Amino acid sequence: MDFQGFIEFTAVKISCYIFLGAIILRFLFFLFCIFVNAEKNFWTPLYLIKTIIRSFFPLHKISIKRPFYTSIRYIFHICLILVPICYTGHLMIWEALETDFYPPELPDIWIDRLAVIAIFIGIWFLIRRISIPQIRKSSSAFDYIFIIIATLPFISGYYLVSGTPDIIFFLDNDIWNIHIISGEVFILCAAFLLCSTRINPDKCIGCASCELACPTETLETIDKDDIRTFKYSHYQCICCGSCINACPEDAVELRHNMNLLNFFKVNIKNIIRTAKLKRCIRCSKTFTPEPVFDKVVIELNHDYLKLCPECRKHDHAENFLK
Ligand code: SF4
Ligand code: SF4
Repeated sequence: MDFQGFIEFTAVKISCYIFLGAIILRFLFFLFCIFVNAEKNFWTPLYLIKTIIRSFFPLHKISIKRPFYTSIRYIFHICLILVPICYTGHLMIWEALETDFYPPELPDIWIDRLAVIAIFIGIWFLIRRISIPQIRKSSSAFDYIFIIIATLPFISGYYLVSGTPDIIFFLDNDIWNIHIISGEVFILCAAFLLCSTRINPDKCIGCASCELACPTETLETIDKDDIRTFKYSHYQCICCGSCINACPEDAVELRHNMNLLNFFKVNIKNIIRTAKLKRCIRCSKTFTPEPVFDKVVIELNHDYLKLCPECRKHDHAENFLK
């Protein structure tokens, strides 16, 4: 088989089957992790319905605070789903898969408009990420690459349908191959793309409110010696945003990332944050994270706060008996 035949049929088939396989595996891994770890009430019908709604429409305080950005994200995701699936020109994908399934088709004019919207949003995401220092600081190389991977099939597809402009005449013959290959790379990336919770160490004070709010026990804190460790399992996370709502410091974010090793880490919790714990100045027991302590002491400068709860109770009792 020549190169053209490979990218047009075999590679399309392979990438779609990998995508489907990965989606099924992710769902099974999720069920396994939830079954092994989550609270018993997770399995009640009402709780499950609420969870499904929350994971598809994660309306947390950050998204409510930024309605414009949230709407744009939703629109981009709608374009990412509808254009590849409902475009008549993509019939070859379903033929390559040799199934009897053919998705509903949308009129070409709609697909055209959605593609243009996706291109503009993709470019806007990229410019925003490069130009806003705060966002740039928290971005990894993958964040940039993934925006390009997601937008390139739309740009190349649009030019294929509307004609390559003169300024990029040198791509005239290759734009078809760019379109197919970028589409396949996008499908493969989407298969292994995980949405996971990140904690910004510059903002987090280690209070563990996020752990208390997490409905699936995905976030877990362990206090050992003088360190509080935050552990997190991406398969248990339903991306509901409850941790974002609970965080008093706006330190939690839900972000996409792709890591093949993480994909196969089922039921293993990764350490996503550590915070030092404060020791009582009298008995040396640890009792609260240092950032929480520092924050409270700035507000209420009192030596009493440097004692652990037990030593405070002891002091109360002594004062009472005096
Ligand atoms: S970690 Fe956050 S987003 Fe994930 S399930 Fe828990 S509360 Fe929801
Ligand atoms: S709720 Fe926010 S500040 Fe508190 S531990 Fe979680 S991320 Fe850190």
